[in-house]
Amino acid sequence: MLRDTLLTAARSRHVEQLVTTLPVTRHVVERYVAGETVEDAVRATKELAADGLRSTLDFLGEDIESPVQAQATVDAYLQLLERLGSADLTRHAEVSVKLSALGQALPGGERTALQHARTICNAARSFSTTVTLDMEDHTTTDSTLRLLAELRLDFPDTGAVVQSYLHRTEGDCRELASAGSRVRLCKGAYDEPSAVAYQSKRDVDLSYVRCLKVLMAGEGYPMVASHDPRMVEIAGALAARHGREASTFEYQMLYGIRPNEQRRLAREGATVRVYVPFGTQWYGYLMRRLAERPANVVFFLRSLVSKS
Ligand SMILES: Cc1cc2nc3c(=O)[nH]c(=O)nc-3n(C[C@H](O)[C@H](O)[C@H](O)COP(=O)(O)OP(=O)(O)OC[C@H]3O[C@@H](n4cnc5c(N)ncnc54)[C@H](O)[C@@H]3O)c2cc1C
Repeated sequence: MLRDTLLTAARSRHVEQLVTTLPVTRHVVERYVAGETVEDAVRATKELAADGLRSTLDFLGEDIESPVQAQATVDAYLQLLERLGSADLTRHAEVSVKLSALGQALPGGERTALQHARTICNAARSFSTTVTLDMEDHTTTDSTLRLLAELRLDFPDTGAVVQSYLHRTEGDCRELASAGSRVRLCKGAYDEPSAVAYQSKRDVDLSYVRCLKVLMAGEGYPMVASHDPRMVEIAGALAARHGREASTFEYQMLYGIRPNEQRRLAREGATVRVYVPFGTQWYGYLMRRLAERPANVVFFLRSLVSKS
């Protein structure tokens, strides 16, 4: 119920206006977002690299409303890649991109988003790193997988994302588990109807394990994106069963969530990548993080009370 309310609020411009102008919000945002500028993102990448952690950087901003905003997103990624390159950080960092931020939902948007994504992939390649296409709500899944397939013709290392809450995902994993295919498996962060998605945590978790089995048994490069201790443990056991070395799969977690666990896994020799969001458009991202864990809402409200 609370989750549904927060996810609905994540799409409301009215609530956005209210939440983003509360002074205490900043305090909560800092936990999940590396900062507003490219320099903040570079600093966070450096700090994570010093602890043996890789990064995937996300320039915040989704569901953009004009071609000008889509171009601004591309420019931000180009600037970011340039800075990561000049700081010699691209061994440790790649980028995550939302196609909606490149104009996917605008009229004729698929073509525009594809062109923009190509520009970012080209820049990433010139700095010897990669791009992963984030997955958004289910109405975009087919379009995103179609554009992924087109991009992979020229950039085969482009990463895919699949969400275990969708009924279709085990089948998508079978399609995607081919040699060289980088696939991030997450549970899914949007408010989806029962016609397309499992509604209970148990069913989403069971689906996650089925998908993990497919990806770990396959020939691709699984990226296990979860903070759930059970999923992390099962992924490790499956990797061992399939004789996978640490260089053939990775764990991924979000910036600010279970940071000690991120470092523990890395110390034990696992490949661990942290998803690092940055930029001024953090509202939708923050609301999805609050929706994932009721305790986060309490944390938010407590900050509100203690600062007022
Ligand atoms: C690297 C990465 C990339 C992602 N990319 C996408 C994407 O492209 N598309 C998409 O739909 N979703 C994406 N997600 C979000 C994902 O779908 C889930 O919503 C999110 O990861 C929570 O699910 P969980 O697997 O951690 O398990 P859950 O069952 O939600 O949580 C397990 C435990 O993790 C901890 N935890 C989880 N969330 C939080 C939080 N917000 N704050 C504090 N603790 C928390 C708690 O201890 C919790 O008990 C991504 C997640 C990660 C880690």
